[in-house]
Amino acid sequence: MSEERILLDHGSGGLASHRLVSEVFLRHMGNEFLNGLDDAACVATGPLTAVSTDTFTVDPLFFPGGDIGSLAVHGTVNDVAMLGARPRYLTCGFIIEEGFALGDLERIVASMARAAKEAGVHVVAGDTKVVTRGAADKLFINTTGLGELLLDAPLSGSGAEEGDAVLVSGNLGDHGLAVFAAREGLSFRTPVQSDSACLNHMVADLLRNVPQVRVLRDPTRGGLATTLNEIAGQSGRDILLREADLPIDPEVRESCSFLGLDPLYLANEGKLICVVPSSRAEEALGILKRHEVGGNAASIGEVGDSSRGRVILETGIGGRRMLQMLEGEQLPRIC
Ligand code: MG
Repeated sequence: MSEERILLDHGSGGLASHRLVSEVFLRHMGNEFLNGLDDAACVATGPLTAVSTDTFTVDPLFFPGGDIGSLAVHGTVNDVAMLGARPRYLTCGFIIEEGFALGDLERIVASMARAAKEAGVHVVAGDTKVVTRGAADKLFINTTGLGELLLDAPLSGSGAEEGDAVLVSGNLGDHGLAVFAAREGLSFRTPVQSDSACLNHMVADLLRNVPQVRVLRDPTRGGLATTLNEIAGQSGRDILLREADLPIDPEVRESCSFLGLDPLYLANEGKLICVVPSSRAEEALGILKRHEVGGNAASIGEVGDSSRGRVILETGIGGRRMLQMLEGEQLPRIC
């Protein structure tokens, strides 16, 4: 099978499609929802259902710490979790370029299945299309996630209030730098790994113990600086960041400075920002830290009293610098 390539016929809906579905997709992702092979699946969630969809075009498809398959699960699972929900179901759509190696597709599908299992979600529906050579670049994946709300009302970026603490669950910039380095063939002294991971178990633990959490957001494209600008704008509050407290791996910091990249604008795929009343910040931080994905969590700032919606970085030497939203595309096809 590893020598075999994807043909237009694999997307025809005929015999070759059926073979691909049973030998690759069902073999790895099969479950009671998919195995019926009906036109749709029926699922049950709680009274309120969080929904998110995302399309993954990352280049290269395989990078240190993950691949497009695991990323397509983590990205959508995390977006559902950020609403304060427990992700339960995923759908996936594949757009495959004719000639793509079947062995690579199988590796990616197996990786998706592992990531879904780890996140505790069922893949309940899927679709495959094959396009002619050159009409797409190798493989694109869309995933949609459904989850049941764990709170009475969904969390939103508009929830930050004056005096709240701002936490981040670990080191910044690893995913963006890892994918960029893999694409450009750069090597570092210590290879930088993507942080791609599911955050939903940590989120469930956090919300069970600290239901007062006001905002959860994952700083993906545009990085920490852009996501904090979204929260500041939606909440109509300034956010003050302490530069000295930002967790950044020294290797990432050094490589970024060499490459002219800013780790505060690089994508993360396994991190969250948590805004929480300051009285519960210590407890929330402790909960993040007891999870492997939150091991290097830190308190990085606070919500200020001004209603201008700015993000202000307090630098080590007592200076202040405004952090704007990302302008233009620093690194395309990072997720
Ligand atoms: Mg998000």
